[in-house]
Amino acid sequence: MPDSRETGATDAFVVGWPIKHSRSPLIHNHWLHRYGIDGSYRAEAVAPEDFAALMSSLKSGDGRYRGGNVTIPHKERAFELADRSDAVAEELGAANTLWLEEGLIHATNTDGFGFCANLDERHPGWADTGRAVILGAGGASRAVIQAVRDRGVGEIHVVNRTQARAQQLSDRFGPRVHAHGLEALKEVLQGAGLFVNTTSIGMVGAETMQIDFSPMEGDAVVTDIVYAPLKTTLLAQAEEQGRAIVDGLGMLLHQAAPGFEKWFGLLPSVDEELRQLVIEDMEEH
Ligand code: NAP
Repeated sequence: MPDSRETGATDAFVVGWPIKHSRSPLIHNHWLHRYGIDGSYRAEAVAPEDFAALMSSLKSGDGRYRGGNVTIPHKERAFELADRSDAVAEELGAANTLWLEEGLIHATNTDGFGFCANLDERHPGWADTGRAVILGAGGASRAVIQAVRDRGVGEIHVVNRTQARAQQLSDRFGPRVHAHGLEALKEVLQGAGLFVNTTSIGMVGAETMQIDFSPMEGDAVVTDIVYAPLKTTLLAQAEEQGRAIVDGLGMLLHQAAPGFEKWFGLLPSVDEELRQLVIEDMEEH
C-alpha cells in the first residue's frame, strides 16, 4: 500500500456535515503560507452515508490526501473505520485527526491536547489543584475530562443538566470523575481550582446561567471552550467576580497543530498573528 508521502500527496482536509463554518481551512492555510509549504487544506462537506467512501478513498492512497481533520458528526465513525488508533482516541471512542502511514489510516484526538496547551500558555500551573469542575457532559466534555485527569487533577466533578450523561462519563473515565446534576454546582465549586464550561451556554444566541464562583480557591481559573463570543457570558461573570479567565479560542488553534505536523512535517506555532486572523474572521461572519 502506498504512503501518501510516497504518492506525492500534498493536501489535507477537514470533513464534516455541515462544514462551511469551520475555521480549520483558515488556520491551516495560514500555516502553509507562513512556512512556504506547497500544499493545501480543504473543507469537504460529506454526508454521514458517504463518510465510509471518503475513508476508503484516503486509504487507497489515490494520491490526493495525506489525511485530515474530522468534525461533527463523523468523529465516532472515523474512530471505528481507522486502522490504528492511539490510546487517547481509543478511550474517547472518537477521532478528530487522521493520517496515512504505510498504507494504514491512523487516528488520534487532539482536543484534549489543545485544551491543555491553551491553559499552559495562558494560565501556567492550572493543573496544580486538587479539584476541577467541568460543566457539561457532551462530546467535547469527554476530551476535557480525559485531559484534566491525565494532567493529574485529583477530583473531577462533572456537572450536567442531564445527570445520567455525566454518570456515563464518570463510568468511562474512572473513579476520580464524579457525576452531578446542576443543583450540586455550588457545593462542588468549594475549593476548586479550575472551572471549565463545555456546554453551549453562553454561545451567541444561547441562554446563560448565573454562577457564583466565590467558593473556588483564591487563584482559581475559569475557562470556557466556547469561543464565539470570545468572552462568553460565563467568562464575563467570572471576570466581574475577580477570577482569572481563559477563553476557548486557543484550544481551537492548538488542537490543529499536531495534525499539521503529521501531514506537512513541521509543528506550527500558535501565535498572536494567527489568533488575530481568526478573531477578524469571526467579526466578519
Ligand atoms: P453537545 O455534545 O451537544 O453537548 C452540549 C452540552 O451542553 C450538554 O452537556 C448539554 O446538557 C449542555 N447544555 C446545552 N444547553 C444547555 C442549557 N440550556 N442548560 C444547561 N446545559 C445545557 O455539544 P459539544 O459537541 O460537547 O460542544 C459544546 C460546545 O463546545 C460547542 O459550543 C462547541 O462549539 C464547543 N467546542 C469548542 C472547541 C474548541 O476547540 N474550543 C472544541 C469542541 C467543541 P444535556 O446533556 O443535559 O443536554
